[in-house]
Amino acid sequence: MTEKWIVGVDLGGTTTKLAFINLYGEIVHKWEIPTDLSNEGKNIIINIAKAIDHQLGEMDVDKSKLVGVGMGAPGPVDTKSGVIYNAVNLGWKNQVPLRDLLEVETSLKAVIDNDANCAALGEMWKGAGNGAKDLVCVTLGTGVGGGVIANGQIVQGISGAAGEIGHITSIPVGGAPCNCGKTGCLETIASATGIVRLATKKVQDSSDSGELKNIYQTEGSISAKYVFDSARNGDQIALDVIEEVAFHLGLALANIANTLNPEKIVIGGGVSKAGDLLLNSIKNYFDQYSFPRVKESTTMAIATLGNDAGVIGAAWLIKNTMVK
Ligand code: ZN
Repeated sequence: MTEKWIVGVDLGGTTTKLAFINLYGEIVHKWEIPTDLSNEGKNIIINIAKAIDHQLGEMDVDKSKLVGVGMGAPGPVDTKSGVIYNAVNLGWKNQVPLRDLLEVETSLKAVIDNDANCAALGEMWKGAGNGAKDLVCVTLGTGVGGGVIANGQIVQGISGAAGEIGHITSIPVGGAPCNCGKTGCLETIASATGIVRLATKKVQDSSDSGELKNIYQTEGSISAKYVFDSARNGDQIALDVIEEVAFHLGLALANIANTLNPEKIVIGGGVSKAGDLLLNSIKNYFDQYSFPRVKESTTMAIATLGNDAGVIGAAWLIKNTMVK
């Protein structure tokens, strides 16, 4: 039998990642195109369809090789109707019938979901989840994304907003404002932006000198990477920032685990590149706040797919319709 491919698409605010993926979840070819936000985002889907056709031409492959296109999109998605809501960073106001548009433009069967959910599905299928069917994935990037998988299926909730781990309230009183309109969300602490905010405040408030303070004084600003690098070199302020981030993540993840008792909690995104330093500290707090049987049975791991998690999980959306 000739191998069939699925198109996995990870639609982002600046770039769109695409990949041809075989039915075993292996990437055959991957590439990126810029996301065209002009004209209220009207070109986005047409460009994706053109990019697929162009790439098939480049590879001299017939379109009949493709069984469908799965896409992760940055916003709340109603998976039944295939509609995305309030994807303001794509220039889309109100709601857009994304799945139907994708089917019309590509002439392929399409399935869509939220991008954080796709990252979770990717890690379940081919990454740190290692096939675990009960899995929670938290993505620590510019924001904090979450995906909850129970018995192999994404938990959607009544309006597609389940798994919004980034908006768990961590600071009930006096927390920093969040993009969602609330204050004190986990995202205001555990995202790259949150880490920079915490670190900047600590550096400004502290009279101690040290690596991070020196960087701040020379550069005028701090990045999350500087915080991790300085912490690895033993800088006390940076270590304090990591400890505070780990406390809030460990507490939130323990509460999630006490509710769901997943087999695995997978931590991904750029912030997870801090590696063992952050993970060990999160684990300490997680152990402290999780129910004993949960502590014994739920394990934690760093995501392994990196930027490929989104396209692989998007491809899973199609694969999942085939195994039924
Ligand atoms: Zn929020």
